[in-house]
Amino acid sequence: MLLPKYSIGIGDRFAHQGAAQLDALIEARQRGLMIAPVWNKSHREHTIVGSKPGDVRVEVDRAVKARGWTGPYFVDADHIGIKTVDGFLDSSDFFTLDVAELIGAEPSIDELARFVEKRKKYLGRLQIPGIDRGFDISETMIEDAARKYLPAVQQAGRIYRHIEKAKPGDAPVIEVSMDETDRPQTPVELFFILAAVADEGIPAQTVAPRFTGRFNKGVDYVGDVAQFAKEFEQDLAVIAFAVEQFGLSENLKLSVHSGSDKFSIYGPMHRALNRFNAGVHLKTAGTTWLEELIGLAAAGGDGLEIAKEIYKTALSRFDELCAPYASVIDIDPAALPAPETVDSWNGETFASALRHDQSCDAYNHNLRQLLHVGYKVAADMGEQFLDALEKHARVIAKNVTENILQRHIRPLFFGNLPDLERVNGKQSKSQRPGTAVPGARMPA
Ligand SMILES: [Zn+2]
Repeated sequence: MLLPKYSIGIGDRFAHQGAAQLDALIEARQRGLMIAPVWNKSHREHTIVGSKPGDVRVEVDRAVKARGWTGPYFVDADHIGIKTVDGFLDSSDFFTLDVAELIGAEPSIDELARFVEKRKKYLGRLQIPGIDRGFDISETMIEDAARKYLPAVQQAGRIYRHIEKAKPGDAPVIEVSMDETDRPQTPVELFFILAAVADEGIPAQTVAPRFTGRFNKGVDYVGDVAQFAKEFEQDLAVIAFAVEQFGLSENLKLSVHSGSDKFSIYGPMHRALNRFNAGVHLKTAGTTWLEELIGLAAAGGDGLEIAKEIYKTALSRFDELCAPYASVIDIDPAALPAPETVDSWNGETFASALRHDQSCDAYNHNLRQLLHVGYKVAADMGEQFLDALEKHARVIAKNVTENILQRHIRPLFFGNLPDLERVNGKQSKSQRPGTAVPGARMPA
């Protein structure tokens, strides 16, 4: 199965927004751009929500049928490892192999030596098309890269062969992910990681490195945007070069695990993709769940009451909810509104505090991050929450579709920022709209 040039991972924690999410992609397609939807849900999310991988397949097939979507679409076993892959084999046709925990494990001396020997031809000045300055490659650099990443890639090979054996001939989309780790991978490290991917015979179509900067859950990118842009471009160049050097899948592209809503890097990403004529997979997860909350709040009445109750419960369970996500959130507890304050809010006040509009003074990124990781509270509510989603389906669906279309698809794939110009509190010239994809048009 071939993943199209552009694809977007649209997590849907409570399995109610598949059709609303698809509406955003239908809109994009009508404007000339085919972006394949990929419904991703990790083992961690399934455990917290109490759902099963097969539930995603049922929801997705239903949504695709309901909307008459004729393009390709996928169900992603997100961040699976050798211990969790089996539960996803029947329902998934996209597998994100997470091998980050093996980064830094020691490879055997023989394997290390073999790897270095095979790549000695790259010693000296390495010139990669699309990167101005070359890289000086020493034997130590190759050895360091192998020492850090070889066991992780070998583990990816084991998981891949396990999938291949269980689903012979299915050829699902395979992603190798190393994003959930502290240290970013340099473009040179990525090059040697891809060499190892080729050695393992993994037909990877996407690779998810850890980029520089913070990718906190549900909020914008925190870090040096210029540095990110440079690294992203170099990674695109490295991928094109590695495909040719190592005989990897022609379809190989970068996967960006965004943790949702990395608005300030969409502009630079769009321009780099155009420059290299490269595709991309953008993975988001929790942004749809937050739109469900915004929709409930905006609906008022019992919807607003449920939104308030979820916030207040999340606040009282702060430590428990934040613990699994500690490395990907930065919440200032002092900046979280008190329960009494939230009790006095109307629907619009609640929605404005939560909605990711950085130009709005009421927007509170602390509250947003807490609610992003607070979906367990809604899961614990069970039927009460799901009934509310159904009762207020119309207003929620509108928020879900608009969010994906205007805040994600439009800036990244169409090169047009949404109406927010202020990024990280500052006016930024570099964030102005870039060039659009040829033939594609979005409304102003
Ligand atoms: Zn990830």
